[in-house]
Amino acid sequence: MKIVKPTFYKNFKCIAGACPDSCCQGWEVDADIESLEYYKTLDPSLEIKQRIDRVLSKDEFDNTIFTLAPKKRCPFLNDENLCDMHIAIGGEHTPYTCRTFPRFIYDFGGTREIGISFSCPVASDMMYDLPSFEFEEEMTDELPSLNDIDGMLYYTLVKARKEAYAKVKDKSKPISQRLSNLLDFAQDLQSQLDDYPDGNDESIDFFEVFENPELINPEWEIKVENREVKPISNVQANENIAMYFLYKYFLQAVYDRDVLSKAKMAVVGVLVNTYFGEDSWTIHLWSKETEHSQYNMDRYKKLLKTAKCLSVEELKKRLIK
Ligand code: SF4
Repeated sequence: MKIVKPTFYKNFKCIAGACPDSCCQGWEVDADIESLEYYKTLDPSLEIKQRIDRVLSKDEFDNTIFTLAPKKRCPFLNDENLCDMHIAIGGEHTPYTCRTFPRFIYDFGGTREIGISFSCPVASDMMYDLPSFEFEEEMTDELPSLNDIDGMLYYTLVKARKEAYAKVKDKSKPISQRLSNLLDFAQDLQSQLDDYPDGNDESIDFFEVFENPELINPEWEIKVENREVKPISNVQANENIAMYFLYKYFLQAVYDRDVLSKAKMAVVGVLVNTYFGEDSWTIHLWSKETEHSQYNMDRYKKLLKTAKCLSVEELKKRLIK
């Protein structure tokens, strides 16, 4: 299998108890089937087994979750911000989300793409300060899993993503121009893939997009309130943010034939950095608010397609301001 990952991936290390914003606070943790099966095998007299059984419940999407403790803390997060479940039964038996966070892993037939998410502040610092967002590949002995992706579409998207990267990295132009070119390119590709309403809903204002129904960290609300509309800085961090969203989401269009929204996500990420705070903490908050809340992400995806304020035309106006 071919493994693709950013070159900095190997340098990521969780700082656990020293983390300024634990990933074990603010959101629900899904318990995956494999972990649930393991918990059933635990000795009922074990304190950790009793604690697990006490907190298991269902969310509105019918996922099995751990009921959060006060202040939206994971019920297994102790006073030192360490995981009691990890300590009691080993990290390999914590839920899949906990074992993998902040990593994402996407398989496309014989290719696996992996990366880390801005939702972790340590990963966010790393990516924000990169001199250049680059990738490396390696081959492993692992056999590809069965898949039903459209091969032709996949290869079209792989080729298109390379072009999208080149547009974002074209340092002969200011970043605002590069992002505008990216939108034009994605719009053209979208017209060959599927219908796309691009802004038939005028009912929502640009800044309302960022008022998520599920607020994970109240700091985010303050960031949105204290926004400052200004031109986009020509800094490397903005290129890195755009590259992150393209890498993580562009190929997902193989499942929904929606490539334009993926390009818009890159543009919106840069606008978040511009309006709400030009630092790695702000983009970390945005990532945590949207990418890790099913509610917020479903709403955001819908708005990307339908909200007039997120149409190509309106985003391009913001880019040249
Ligand atoms: S947010 Fe990142 S650094 Fe913090 S505890 Fe989670 S994985 Fe570790």
